[in-house]
Amino acid sequence: MSKATIPYKIYLSESEIPKEWYNLNAVMTRKHEPFLNPSTLKPCTKEELSQVFCEECVEQELDRTHRYIEIPEEIRSFYKMYRPSPLVRAYCLEKALGTPAKIYYKFEGNNTSGSHKLNSAVAQAYYAKKQGLKSITTETGAGQWGTALSMAAAYFGLDLTVYMVKVSSEQKPHRREVMRTYGAKVIASPSDTTQAGRKILKEFPGTGGSLGCAISEAVEKAVTSDDCRYVLGSVLDHVVLHQSVIGQECKTAMDKYGIEPDMIIGCCGGGSNFGGLIAPFMGDKIEGKNNIEFVGVEPASCPSLTRGRYVYDFCDSAKITPLAKMYTLGCGFMPAPNHAGGLRYHGMSPIVSALYNQGYMRAVTVEQTKVFEAAEKFARIEGILPAPESSHAIRVAIDEALKCKETGEAKTILFGLTGTGYFDMTAYKQYNDGTMTDTIPTDADLAHGFESIPDIPQNK
Ligand SMILES: *Cc1c(COP(=O)(O)O)cnc(C)c1O
Repeated sequence: MSKATIPYKIYLSESEIPKEWYNLNAVMTRKHEPFLNPSTLKPCTKEELSQVFCEECVEQELDRTHRYIEIPEEIRSFYKMYRPSPLVRAYCLEKALGTPAKIYYKFEGNNTSGSHKLNSAVAQAYYAKKQGLKSITTETGAGQWGTALSMAAAYFGLDLTVYMVKVSSEQKPHRREVMRTYGAKVIASPSDTTQAGRKILKEFPGTGGSLGCAISEAVEKAVTSDDCRYVLGSVLDHVVLHQSVIGQECKTAMDKYGIEPDMIIGCCGGGSNFGGLIAPFMGDKIEGKNNIEFVGVEPASCPSLTRGRYVYDFCDSAKITPLAKMYTLGCGFMPAPNHAGGLRYHGMSPIVSALYNQGYMRAVTVEQTKVFEAAEKFARIEGILPAPESSHAIRVAIDEALKCKETGEAKTILFGLTGTGYFDMTAYKQYNDGTMTDTIPTDADLAHGFESIPDIPQNK
């Protein structure tokens, strides 16, 4: 088809919502190393993982053979409320940049939670319900994950307790109210409802809390309550699997119009949206069917891929989760307080880490003020107010399109627009007031974080 026939928004029909998730784990020729039990240093068994997570999610987590995993009809019904999400040809942005590049973005912010996280939240809530559980717990920092899971828990009639990092719950009271409206119990962490919380409160009265502490509280609640499991919004393989609906819809839409991306760009926090966006395209690349350039973008303040180590580390700062082989800054790494919100994670999805380690993708970092310059430009030109996390991908997409302007190459660029930024007005205010700063950790800061990596034979 000719260029002129490509609409501004490419919508798929309801029947084109994927019927299966795409399991990159099955396609990768060199699989990533297994999770280890930190006390035995042996690979985690299904039974061990099932103490904490839902059985079906554990099944998916460990599945390295099935390329396609069926999406249950109940989950597809929920997807129909907000999917397919639009694939947008950024004609206005291309024109404003004066670039010969063709820019596309997949917009995942068209639901009340405001991000892609709902894609996995609904799947995990469904499997919890199917297993006969009564309740689930989780933690939330920036709040997008807690909101998404609240929506999913309400839909399936599950009780949900969200441990929200205390400073976030004070800074983002509106996020808290959205979660409560959907019926979630939101507890500012650290709290006096768990042993872990009481211990921290005693040691550090007046602390604003941390994600690590909130995870400890949520996991403690899950393992000490009957019929309750803990649910995680990123990093793990089954979360990346659920997010593959993003990439598959992109591929269906692009195939329909004969569009072949030269480059796919996504922001990387725990790696779930990026892993999901690239999934079917990366599968083809591994099999030699395309030569797409994949680019993961992380904040300069939290550069796990670009400056981290590829070792076994805990997934949380309280050191209670299994060990994952991943790029990490050390589970004790404390990123400077900034507005990358959902990108402030010390580690990276084991799948994305392995792809990076094996040379299938590259990674870049961007600084905060540059990210907000791109966010402002995008908002003014394309109309959508982007989440700070998503704006990392926008920054690099714009930079790549500007490079095309110099070289005259008409590359086709696809990036993931993971969400909207309505709850990030404090960040936008700082940017608008000119008070935003950039923080880049020094080598000494990183060395300090690396000290928290477990000293085990596998890491030698
Ligand atoms: C959580 C979040 C991210 C980062 O998480 P990933 O697991 O790396 O995808 C990116 N964008 C938005 C809007 C988020 O809420």
